[in-house]
Amino acid sequence: MSQGSLFIVSAPSGGGKTSLTRALVPALAGHGVTATISVSFTTRAPRPGETDGVHYHFIDEAGFVDKIGRGDFLEHAHVFGRRYGTGLSETRALLDAGHDVILDIDWQGARQVKREWPQAIGIFIVPPSVAELERRLRGRSQDSEDVIAERMREAHEEISHHAEYDYLIVNENFEQALAEMAAIFLEPRLRSQRQLARHGELVAQLLAPGASGGA
Ligand code: 5GP
Repeated sequence: MSQGSLFIVSAPSGGGKTSLTRALVPALAGHGVTATISVSFTTRAPRPGETDGVHYHFIDEAGFVDKIGRGDFLEHAHVFGRRYGTGLSETRALLDAGHDVILDIDWQGARQVKREWPQAIGIFIVPPSVAELERRLRGRSQDSEDVIAERMREAHEEISHHAEYDYLIVNENFEQALAEMAAIFLEPRLRSQRQLARHGELVAQLLAPGASGGA
């Protein structure tokens, strides 16, 4: 089985990243591609509706620091004053099982992953306008005004790192942005070398003398 590829997806809060990556998994399954969104570790508290082990692995500060010491993270960073990190062994296991792995992480984490794993593919998602960004941040309504104002500032900071990514997607129309995301995931799998590993026999049959009425 061939190894999966590692994808980093970043966006400012309100960029629509979570909805897009969630919709991407079944969209890729329709193309026979198994993609899995990595479940990060975080020290922040669960929000209503979030489940431990599904949305995040919620751990305390001491547990997080312990994991850093053991070298358990592929990357880790402080985001909005809390710690977030991607499990190294969990990521490796998924890639080895042939899954494409989606890391929904911030620019600091993306930078660390690119350093360790240069073949990782970075995708940056932006909202279509500042007004739309603000509207989406308010639409979440789970956070206080202070948090929203802080997230607008953080959004600016996050967007300033867009050029460190391989692809940029403007999420104005959800279906279009989803199709563009899927195209990025499918492209490496459609390259001749990789296709020949899977379909070499087919190509050989098509080229066999007399197979297609040729000479
Ligand atoms: P939230 O707390 O709203 O779920 O996520 C806040 C931010 O933390 C998002 O931008 C998200 O991409 C980022 N984030 C989530 N998990 C990780 C992680 O494992 N590593 C890093 N560096 N950032 C993460």
